[in-house]
Amino acid sequence: MASTSVPRWPHRTLADVEFDAHATRHLIFAAGPDAMTHIMARTSVLPEVATVVEVPESSNVQDVVAGALAGATVGPRFVVVGTGASVMRIRALIIEAGAIDAEVTVVHLGSEDGFAAMERDVFCSHCHTVTPATSRIDEMVVCAGCDIELVVYHHFSRRHAAYLGYRPDSEELTERERIE
Ligand SMILES: [Zn+2]
Repeated sequence: MASTSVPRWPHRTLADVEFDAHATRHLIFAAGPDAMTHIMARTSVLPEVATVVEVPESSNVQDVVAGALAGATVGPRFVVVGTGASVMRIRALIIEAGAIDAEVTVVHLGSEDGFAAMERDVFCSHCHTVTPATSRIDEMVVCAGCDIELVVYHHFSRRHAAYLGYRPDSEELTERERIE
């Protein structure tokens, strides 16, 4: 279980997504206004039964996603479009609600890969506070909870929808298995 689970970004644009022809319905989540613009410019590639759900940056992401999922019946597929930490937050909420990895596609409109500088949530393995940061992997961020400097580790916790941060002088990542 120690394997790295950094999410990959196989899709750079909605036009690259292979929609499942057998799915009864697609739910497309737009994280932020840029994502909405991106989708609206490409509605011709969307499958027949698709619902676009905008998740405004100021909104309670959990409520918006839960509301959209409540209306989703049998066999929906999910596409999350956007940049930064909110994409992974939305993806984590969908998985938490019972979807499997294969049913959720991420279209990442930001930098080239998950390792570049972008907004990401960092989970403190010491006090369990989540701190939003723009640090790159292996860079430092000061934990908002315990105020210590954390190294942003390349491990992504799906449960917390955040990257793992640990004190550089920690002898072992004892929390690592626990937050898988
Ligand atoms: Zn902390």
